[in-house]
Amino acid sequence: MLALAPLALHDAPLDTGERFALDLLLDLSCVLRTNMPRPDADDVQLRIVGSAASDALGVGALRGDEWLLVGDGEVLLDRRALAVVRDVAGGVAEQRSGAVDRFGRIPASENALVREGGDLERDPVVSAFARRLAAAVARAAGRRRALFIAPWPDGRRWAAALTHDLDVVEWWPAFTALRLAELARKGELRRALAVVRAAIATGGRDVVWRGVDEVLRTERAHGVRSSWFILTGTPTLATARAGDLTYRPEGALARRILGAIADEGHEIGLHGSFATSDDPAQFALQRARLAALASTEAAGVRQHYLRLHAATTPAEMARAGFAYDSTAGFPDRNGFRLGVADVVPCWNAAHDAVLPLDEAPFCWMDRALSKYRGIEAPDAWIDDALVLADRCRAVQGMFVGIWHPNLTPALGFPGAPAAYARLVAGIVELGAHVAPLGELVAWRRMRRRVRATSVGPDGRISLNETDPAIVLVPAAEALANG
Ligand SMILES: [Zn+2]
Repeated sequence: MLALAPLALHDAPLDTGERFALDLLLDLSCVLRTNMPRPDADDVQLRIVGSAASDALGVGALRGDEWLLVGDGEVLLDRRALAVVRDVAGGVAEQRSGAVDRFGRIPASENALVREGGDLERDPVVSAFARRLAAAVARAAGRRRALFIAPWPDGRRWAAALTHDLDVVEWWPAFTALRLAELARKGELRRALAVVRAAIATGGRDVVWRGVDEVLRTERAHGVRSSWFILTGTPTLATARAGDLTYRPEGALARRILGAIADEGHEIGLHGSFATSDDPAQFALQRARLAALASTEAAGVRQHYLRLHAATTPAEMARAGFAYDSTAGFPDRNGFRLGVADVVPCWNAAHDAVLPLDEAPFCWMDRALSKYRGIEAPDAWIDDALVLADRCRAVQGMFVGIWHPNLTPALGFPGAPAAYARLVAGIVELGAHVAPLGELVAWRRMRRRVRATSVGPDGRISLNETDPAIVLVPAAEALANG
C-alpha cells in the first residue's frame, strides 16, 4: 500500500515559543502534514527529544547536522534546536535590545546572527535547517511514500518580490544636492560631474516621473509585477529636514504615480513615516488615507528608514489591519536578518505569542553597499543581489529586494536604471515566481494550513485546501535543487 508521510508529535509538551519554532520549521520544510487522528506504520513520525533545560546552543550550531537523527519511520529532533530557531527567526535579541542608532533603528550589531560573526547573516540558516529536516523526513520514510507541497504556486521552485519605497516625489533638486554633497565627501568627483550633466539635460522636467516610469517599463518588459510602499502623511519643514516626509500623497505628481502603479496591477502598501513608530495610532490613520487614494486597503507596510521598535511596532501594525510587514532587513549590509528567506509569522517575545502579522524579510537593498560600504558602482550592488537570490533559490525560498525608483542619473545615480534592468532579467532567468509581496504572503498563509485529510484505497490524497495552484511532489523532486 502506498503511504503518506505525515508528521505527528510524541510526548513533548512544548511551550509556545518551541511550538512557534516547530511550526515554522515544518512549514519551511514543505513536508505534507496530516490531520488524520491516528498514525499508522506507513506514517513518518517526528519526535522531539532531549530537554530544553540542558545546556543551550549558540546560533552557529544551526549550521550543524547533529540536531537531526533519522530512524526507520521517524525523525528525532533535538529540542534545543527549537529555542535557537525561535530566537533567530523571532528576532528575540533585537526585541530585548534597548540600542538605537541616530535614525531610531536597532543597529545590525544587535542581531544574533551578526553577533555570532562569520557572516552567518549572509545565509538563510533557518531555511537551510528546514531543508535538512525535509531531507531527514525523506530518508526516514524509506520505502514509504513521502510527499511534499511544492513551495510556490503551480509547482514553482522559488519566488522573488521586487519592492519599491517611494521616498522622493517633490523638491527633487534638494535630493540631487544632498547626493552631490555625499559624492563629493567620498571623492567621487567623476560620478558627481555625470550627475550634474544629467540633471541639466533633463531641463528640470519630469525628473522624478522618469525614474518611476523607467522602473515600470523595465518590469512591463519582463512581465513582472511589484510592490510599492508609499509615504502617507503631511510633510513639514521638520519632517523634511529629518529625511522623513517630503511629499503629500494627494499632490498631483504623487497621484499620477499612484495611478500608474495601480493601472499596471502592482501592489500598493504603506511606507510608515517616522511618526508611526512613536505614535502607533498613525498606522490606522495613514492606512485609511492611503486607501482613499489607492481605492484599495494596503495589506503590507514597510517602515521608512526601517525605523521601528522591534518589541512593540509589529503588534501595532497588526492592530491597524496590515497582513504583513517587510521591514526586517539590514540598512547597512545585505543578508537575512531573521535567518529566513521566506515569509515567517511575527513572534512577540514579551508576550510569548505569535502575532496575527507575517514578516516578509528583505535580504537586499540597493543602497546598502553604497551608503554604508562605499561601493558606488550599481553593477556591484546587482552582483550581490544575484548572489543572494541564488541562495534563496537553493532553499526554495523567497528573495525580497528593495529598489528605490529615485535612483536615476539626474537624482545622483548614473548607471542605476540599467543595473536594475539587469537585476530583473537575472531573477527572471533564474526561474523565480515573481509576484507582488502581498500575493506571496497570501499564498504562504494558505500553504501553511495545508493538511492531508484522507488517503483513498487507490492512494489518492485529499487535502483540506482546494487552491488549484497546490501541487504535491514526491521526495526526489522536492529535494532536488534547481
Ligand atoms: Zn523610505
